[in-house]
Amino acid sequence: MGFVEYYSAFKAYSDINSEEYRRRIENLEPLLMKFMKTRGRVLDLACGVGGFSFLLEDLGFEVVGLDNSRFMLEKAREFAKEKESRVEFIEGDARELPFENDSFDYVLFIDSLVHFEPQDLAKVFKETARVLKPGGKFILQFTDLRALLPVLMNGQVVGAEYWVNKVLPDQEEKTVVIEFQSEKDSFRVKFNVWGKMAVELLAKLYFRKEGEEKLNEHSYFQVYGPK
Ligand code: SAM
Repeated sequence: MGFVEYYSAFKAYSDINSEEYRRRIENLEPLLMKFMKTRGRVLDLACGVGGFSFLLEDLGFEVVGLDNSRFMLEKAREFAKEKESRVEFIEGDARELPFENDSFDYVLFIDSLVHFEPQDLAKVFKETARVLKPGGKFILQFTDLRALLPVLMNGQVVGAEYWVNKVLPDQEEKTVVIEFQSEKDSFRVKFNVWGKMAVELLAKLYFRKEGEEKLNEHSYFQVYGPK
């Protein structure tokens, strides 16, 4: 049961040159630009294979990408070579950031909530608040999996190669195991289930909200400033 299979199967997260990844970038770029008017130093937190790091570098930001997965970072570094990028990719844990206080003008945290249990997400938010400069911005994009869960449970969701075969939430629906199936194989991944309200309550401990956009029925883009 693992994220490596999941990210290998879904190019939207693992191949910056795929249609699916490009679409994610196209959807978010205008919003990023709306809230990132002045250039500065960016931490792409849980950067994955680095597509958003490269986008911001191309737009004139100085970018550091951090992730705890060697698998994702190896791909990020290969893409960096391909693009002659100067983004620095660091292996590290979002719960314990290897940076000084007040190091970044922006921290980006895109599509990564499902990896974190509540006590871990609290650490991520606290660390983000610590490394952001006064006046900096924390930019968060996430799917409200709590709202999406009934939709997933109501029927098979079919994708290009893999489809959702089983949805197995725990009793309290804090986590869900999703079984993905293709013609060839199947695998299961355990996600943490986050709802919009829970994210906002936790964020309130460390930040004040400065902006919000709804991307689609279950997906949000939020901008926070340090308290
Ligand atoms: N932000 C990237 C994007 O939008 O393409 C990647 C998103 S991917 C869905 C989630 C990423 O979170 C994965 O690359 C995973 O390795 C990373 N991750 C999970 N737990 C982490 C942790 N504790 N510290 C740093 N990165 C983590």
